[in-house]
Amino acid sequence: MPVKIITTVSEMQNYSRGFSKAGKTIGFVPTMGYLHKGHLSLVKKSKETCDITVVSIFVNPTQFAPNEDLAKYPRDFERDKKLLEETGCDAIFFPDSAEIYPDSFQSYVDVTKITRILEGAYRPTHFKGVTTIVSILFNCVKPDCAFFGQKDAQQAAVIKRMVKDLKIDIKINVEPIVREDDGLAMSSRNIYLSKEDRENALVLYKSLTLGKEMIEAGERNADKVIDAMSGRIAEVKSARLDYIAIAKAETFDLAFKLEPGKSYYMLIACRIGATRLIDNFLVTV
Ligand code: AMP
Repeated sequence: MPVKIITTVSEMQNYSRGFSKAGKTIGFVPTMGYLHKGHLSLVKKSKETCDITVVSIFVNPTQFAPNEDLAKYPRDFERDKKLLEETGCDAIFFPDSAEIYPDSFQSYVDVTKITRILEGAYRPTHFKGVTTIVSILFNCVKPDCAFFGQKDAQQAAVIKRMVKDLKIDIKINVEPIVREDDGLAMSSRNIYLSKEDRENALVLYKSLTLGKEMIEAGERNADKVIDAMSGRIAEVKSARLDYIAIAKAETFDLAFKLEPGKSYYMLIACRIGATRLIDNFLVTV
């Protein structure tokens, strides 16, 4: 079946209403397009879990700061459409900016605490844009389940917080990071990397691997792990670290002493040349 392309809010809502009335469940994967295997793993998961799968492609202006890469963010709708058709996606919601943010627009969703640290500290307006667009997309697609990648672990935690706080009746699923063969986390932004940057970018994965090995060997002092991980990053001259942190998996509170039986995210945000990359490992002590 060819994938259905939907560009207006009213058509999207009618499409979903029809399936819900017929007793079908709807799975939803929000994306900014320029799809790779990480995105497609979420689509596959949705197809396994729900009757109908909708993917949105929308490069959301409100989650980019003025100095960020909104204008040059990679876009290729025809390629995305082909990949989604091959994966068996039922519908693509592909609105333009004016459809989502008309001139009269003035409503935002802000999750307060968890959005102020780590990514939120470096990108102060980012999560407000994310929670606003995800709320809007939820109201357009009306899914039963939504699928997010662990690649953006803090974002997934923010969405879970929002859904809980606002009593939104949608099940949030967080799926593992899909990586290249050498360990680099797949990202639409990897296209920005030069050949040399691409090699240097592996240092995020290497640093995370070092941290994981230290914890597995019994290190329980988060600062010691972070120091060693930072040292590994510093071996690459063109790497500019924004942060390395170890955070409690549920709350994203920073961890100092790692406790047995508890799960933590080790998180890195780092510039390689001009490209900002993020990656993380989830570890259980
Ligand atoms: P984006 O298009 O970058 O906004 O990402 C859309 C969704 O795909 C988000 O939930 C991301 O966390 C997820 N995602 C991005 N990269 C990966 C990856 N390498 N593995 C799994 N999920 C990913």
